[in-house]
Amino acid sequence: MHKLLEGVQQFQRRVYPRYKGLFRELASVQNPQALFITCADSRLMPEMLTQCNPGDLFICRNAGNIVPPYDDRAGGVTATIEYAVSVLKVPNIIICGHSDCGAMKGVLHRESVQGLPAVSRWLHHAEGARLMVMENHCCPDEKTVLQRLTEENVITQLEHLKTHPPVSVALARGDIQLYGWTYQISTGEISSYDARLGRFVPIGSGHVSATPEPRFRRSDPVVAA
Ligand SMILES: [Zn+2]
Repeated sequence: MHKLLEGVQQFQRRVYPRYKGLFRELASVQNPQALFITCADSRLMPEMLTQCNPGDLFICRNAGNIVPPYDDRAGGVTATIEYAVSVLKVPNIIICGHSDCGAMKGVLHRESVQGLPAVSRWLHHAEGARLMVMENHCCPDEKTVLQRLTEENVITQLEHLKTHPPVSVALARGDIQLYGWTYQISTGEISSYDARLGRFVPIGSGHVSATPEPRFRRSDPVVAA
């Protein structure tokens, strides 16, 4: 804890004064560029990966960067998505998985989370990804299985994301872009899911998106029932 308390003091003495103007602007308003959904893992720092400033990212973290499909039960992820899309009107949503993910290892080896009832139930939301890997991928070793599972999990959670009404409405109108990323801790490489190619490609090789085509244009008239 000592390290953290020292850090707070350093932040207040050295860092905050440097960003004073920005924090003053942000004191009562935020206009983030993206909702960033990622794992709770300590080795993944969204602001560091994207070199963002305070106010740029609205972040939702949990074990396995999971987005439960929409239902009528209130949940932290659902509430965060609803607020980000309906109130903050974020123009982008990124779901970011990572290498060596403990949650993905738990999905692969269910026996390892048997004594963790909450984790075990939570990881059921990644079952579609596990099945996709087992049925469709031929992996030479455990490391590759884990990598494919991490990728398939990002794709599965993107599909779940589309079941949330504010997201599906924003997508239909072309108001929001979706992205699926994976981050390699050992190299710093980030790949993005290209929905047209059906695979992940390194970021930097052109505009890559996981966004379906919009069905309405802003100019389309709204028809009364
Ligand atoms: Zn993780």
